[in-house]
Amino acid sequence: MKKIIVATGNEHKLVEIREILNDPDLEILSMKQAGIEADVEENGTTFLENALIKAQAVWDSCHEMTMADDSGLVVDAMDGEPGIYSARWMGHDTSYHIKNRRIIKNLEGLPMEKRTARFVCAVALILPDGRKLTSVGTFEGAIGYEEKGENGFGYDPIFYLPDRGKYSAELTPEEKNAISHRGQALRLMRDQLAAEKAAGRI
Ligand code: IMP
Repeated sequence: MKKIIVATGNEHKLVEIREILNDPDLEILSMKQAGIEADVEENGTTFLENALIKAQAVWDSCHEMTMADDSGLVVDAMDGEPGIYSARWMGHDTSYHIKNRRIIKNLEGLPMEKRTARFVCAVALILPDGRKLTSVGTFEGAIGYEEKGENGFGYDPIFYLPDRGKYSAELTPEEKNAISHRGQALRLMRDQLAAEKAAGRI
């Protein structure tokens, strides 16, 4: 069976990737499951560069199919912050309740039309021959005036979806996957992989 080694230690991401790629001929493994250790410095300047850096670091040590994603929240009124620094913004160990309250405070007094934001997810996959496939998904919304909802993680409680009148943390996992940045990027990658398979290249 063909394997894809995912540059993550996050079990939740693996489950989501398995569900979306949904290919019985593909075994999706974490680095740990594949016995690979790679300490990667995410020093790219875009989501895609960081995804490629992570996938490349794992590929360098195994030359098998490797995949990585990089994602974050882009707030227009904050010049795109926290962006690629979303996980480390205000410090890795700072709670999201504190980070989320800071973003709401930064946008204090701004009307809804100036609160636009988006989640972005880039996915990179490197094939055994070294060729690279990439995809990017975006999830458009706005920064709400409060924190709301119990689902999701990270910045979901402040990510407001004007069309639905709901916060991202109020969506069920199925509703979120259907429209989220990660769901979109992974479905685009699934389609590219299917094309590689149909052409007999993998
Ligand atoms: P990554 O695991 O390096 O891609 O880090 C992404 C970071 O972006 C997470 O730690 C969150 O802070 C933020 N983020 C990405 N996607 C989401 C999402 O769907 N909801 C909430 N926060 C997200």
